[in-house]
Amino acid sequence: MIQAFEFSPFQENTYVIADETSGDAIVIDPGCYEQAEKEALSQFLDARKLTLKYILLTHAHLDHVFGLAYLKRRYGVPAYLHEREQVIYADVPTRCALYGLRGYEHSEIDAWLKEGDQFQIGSLTLDVLFTPGHAPGHVAFVNHADRYIVGGDVLFRGSVGRTDFPYCNHNDLLNSIRTKFFTLPDDYTVYAGHMDPTTIGHEKRTNPFVKIN
Ligand SMILES: [Zn+2]
Ligand SMILES: [Zn+2]
Repeated sequence: MIQAFEFSPFQENTYVIADETSGDAIVIDPGCYEQAEKEALSQFLDARKLTLKYILLTHAHLDHVFGLAYLKRRYGVPAYLHEREQVIYADVPTRCALYGLRGYEHSEIDAWLKEGDQFQIGSLTLDVLFTPGHAPGHVAFVNHADRYIVGGDVLFRGSVGRTDFPYCNHNDLLNSIRTKFFTLPDDYTVYAGHMDPTTIGHEKRTNPFVKIN
């Protein structure tokens, strides 16, 4: 089961992935900013009696980590990020101040993840792919059994991740899409960091920002 929430003024998608049999769960990119959003996320987990095991981050832009401190404190579970995101993550308090976002609470990353790592809850497995470009240590999480990728801010429905921020690289972004996303089967669903889901095949055929040949 995968459940999406859209949080914060940045309209960021936070995902809960749960293994129905064990009741174990993973949260990817906790972007809940307002207190009501944080409670909506924890109420979803608590009402279903889900046991949160991991918090995984596709990258460390502020809109993807607003709720990290809250979730870590409430559930006492580790947060994982790619090591190359350290520079981005360390900058979040400053960037929040620039945006005038006063409610942000910074917390610790517990462990680094990398391509090839797997996260398991019950019989559900997520495979980590390294997908830099929008951010230097951006990763995506693939569930091959259920045929989807939680892709962060790399490939959107009809669009691609921005590369006009510090530490972005547009060629790396296109390379990540071509070599990591477009090599997945066409029917795989893409759950992105913003906007509605899409599929690999739909974006291969219609995405104006990525030419296949
Ligand atoms: Zn981003
Ligand atoms: Zn984002």
